[in-house]
Amino acid sequence: MKRDLKPATIAAHAAGAVDKQSAGVVPPIQTSTTFMRDETYALIRPDNIYSRDDSDTVRTAEQVITKLEQAEDTLLFPAGMAAIAGVFRTLLAGDTALVQSGIYWGTTKWIRDFCARRDVTLHEVEASDAAALKTACQAHRPTLVFIETPSNPWLRTVDVAAAAQATHAVAGTLVVDATAATPILMKPLALGADIVMHSATKAINGHSDVLAGVLSTNAPTDPIWEAIKMDRHDAGAVLGPFEAWLLIRAMRTLPLRVERMTENAVTLAQYLHNHPQVEDVFYPGLPHHPGHEVAKQQMSGYGSLLSVLVKGGRAEALKVVGKLQLFLRATSLGGVESLVEHRHTIEPHTGIPENLIRVSVGIEHIDDLKDDWEQALS
Ligand SMILES: *Cc1c(COP(=O)(O)O)cnc(C)c1O
Repeated sequence: MKRDLKPATIAAHAAGAVDKQSAGVVPPIQTSTTFMRDETYALIRPDNIYSRDDSDTVRTAEQVITKLEQAEDTLLFPAGMAAIAGVFRTLLAGDTALVQSGIYWGTTKWIRDFCARRDVTLHEVEASDAAALKTACQAHRPTLVFIETPSNPWLRTVDVAAAAQATHAVAGTLVVDATAATPILMKPLALGADIVMHSATKAINGHSDVLAGVLSTNAPTDPIWEAIKMDRHDAGAVLGPFEAWLLIRAMRTLPLRVERMTENAVTLAQYLHNHPQVEDVFYPGLPHHPGHEVAKQQMSGYGSLLSVLVKGGRAEALKVVGKLQLFLRATSLGGVESLVEHRHTIEPHTGIPENLIRVSVGIEHIDDLKDDWEQALS
């Protein structure tokens, strides 16, 4: 394929993946776990020995993401958490890691446990405060800095370029969890990040039926990338070919889905922000959001995730959540169907306000989405 194609074109064509054998316009699923050698015992395909991690189907999915991220290399994992674990497993005893506070709880919990177990010093910092992040980098000289923007469920925005500068000034590696931004709305590698991570379970797959994670880089010869790659191969955190194939299929509509979800989210956020029963809305697309200016600079759209603080407390929030009909009460985000979550019920001890409702906006018609909130808030 031509090099400078737009994301919508790359995605629609699955980065040029067709089935050369049958001439089908869709790539096949190769399920073989093992690959043959010829009479002289040479591999018929030198890059295919055994499917941990030699898989053409996985490589095709990785290629689509590489193109969308404008990266040099991509690795898929069986979950977003496996991708994060793949990064952190490169740390050695005695190393220091700096992690943004108030991010996806599963990430924070696993990193805390891992660092304690492995004798890695962990510092947590409110990274949406660029000065605080810079000070923390200078004070602790971390090997690894991990941020998440926009963050889940606070929707805090981290200035990726400033974070990259602060990290590189102390020779660290910056990893950005850009799940809520998707590869369509933000390009962390172009902003200076070393590795971009996504839970592909969310918008990249977008149909709430595949669990996957992804890392991309534009520095594939960096020792950290080689270590992550070797660990995936040797330790076997690989995605199966069926899941990879579903991802290839789903990503054909990724730019289209993200466009509609973002459009819906902007309209819904404005509507909710103006509603008398709503105390506040956390969404980087709203001008009063503290991260609005940074988000405007580094993103081409504000994404489909927002959090709503309804007036009152736990009871009022649960009442609204209980009355919603189109917004399904379930965890996760980035799917074509809208979801709501009362985060405090899920993680009662992490400082989430009891009146916070996290919202993942889907691709439904905006009038139906607004009507649903109108009746739930009345
Ligand atoms: C869901 C999520 C993860 C974890 O991904 P899994 O695919 O569920 O393992 C990590 N970061 C963010 C921001 C997420 O939303």
